[in-house]
Amino acid sequence: MTRGTHDTPGAAGSAASAGAPDSIAGSGFHAMWRDLHGIGRHPRTGGYRRYAWSAADADCRAWFRQEAAARGLAYEVDRNGNQWAWLGDPAQGDAVVTGSHLDSVPDGGAFDGPLGVVSAFAALDELRSRGARPGRPLAVVNFGDEEGARFGLACVGSRLTAGQLRPEQARELRDAGGVSLPQAMEAAGHDPDAIGPDPERLAGIGAFVELHIEQGRALDLGGGPVGVASAIWPHGRWRFDFGGQANHAGTTRLEDRRDPMLTYATTVLAARKKARLAGALATFGKVQVEPNGVNAIASLVRGWLDSRAADEETLATVVAAIEQAACERGARDGVDVTVTRESFTPVVEFAHELRDTLAALVSPDAPVPVLPTGAGHDAGILSAAVPTAMLFVRNPTGVSHSPAESAAEDDCVAGVTALADVLEGLACR
Ligand SMILES: [Zn+2]
Repeated sequence: MTRGTHDTPGAAGSAASAGAPDSIAGSGFHAMWRDLHGIGRHPRTGGYRRYAWSAADADCRAWFRQEAAARGLAYEVDRNGNQWAWLGDPAQGDAVVTGSHLDSVPDGGAFDGPLGVVSAFAALDELRSRGARPGRPLAVVNFGDEEGARFGLACVGSRLTAGQLRPEQARELRDAGGVSLPQAMEAAGHDPDAIGPDPERLAGIGAFVELHIEQGRALDLGGGPVGVASAIWPHGRWRFDFGGQANHAGTTRLEDRRDPMLTYATTVLAARKKARLAGALATFGKVQVEPNGVNAIASLVRGWLDSRAADEETLATVVAAIEQAACERGARDGVDVTVTRESFTPVVEFAHELRDTLAALVSPDAPVPVLPTGAGHDAGILSAAVPTAMLFVRNPTGVSHSPAESAAEDDCVAGVTALADVLEGLACR
């Protein structure tokens, strides 16, 4: 099937439709994609609403268990609710693990997460069809609650496992309806008392490789169907509070106003400019206004800045420049500006040796694209404890976290083949 000829949003139908390539990887991929396709899919938007520990999540997890059983893989759920399917004995150690996540953002696309899990099972099928004999244990993993759509914190499953989220912090998480994470876990049949770090499990992993849809267009702009990740950009969130004075929109002279909306608007434009000049990213995507009346000058505008850059120094410079622009304009507007850093994630450099090994296995004869990403992943969390690498599959729209996310069928198959080459090269030689 040619790229871009889908008849359903997000190309979810495309990868599951007729006209499959004849390879075993292709056909195995198809059957799994078809079975997952309807789970948690909103009929009107075509987007996925697979939130952690919800009914849709339970259906995805039942699918995972079924795929493990269909292949005779040993199935287990770890203490943090992550699902594992083992080929070989994990007690042997030095395992090669691949997988991703099955949960989604609100109205997410079909590929972010599931492509990595489906490709992992398909790659095991491909290994089997090649007659490859793994000398190391292999596992497929589905990390729970990667997107953080329900409880507001991303990568809860992998963070708990890696000891980057304390159990008592996790127990405080609540969804918009006031349901706590332990309550949601319990309702889904998982024991919330068990959550916590799992160093023995991580010690048994020799390499983790996550295949993921690319969340940008670098591969589409001339790279090829599959790329290897170099790093995850450092990123953070900053809250900007612009404090002014509420007043009447009809009776207050312009020169008498202390209007924080002006300062906010100028700051948004400055953020764009500073980021562009530095080759970084800066986004105000969330804003609150008080009192939020049509005929009232605002007393407070609160905006959240998400900023990312290739290195931490650039990121710090960009954010400082935006803060300075906000303060300078605030002084002119009579508006008080305070900036609070709410979160920060340092740069993740994937293991260079494993990255180079992957590149050589995926494309022995020609250089494979090696690219950084601005998005967080379970692989980034695990990289602190385990040699970790990522493969990206081309996304022709570049759009992600949206039903418009897509991948061509041939590219999905190329991803499976690349992943099978990697698993074979790491575990079977
Ligand atoms: Zn993802």
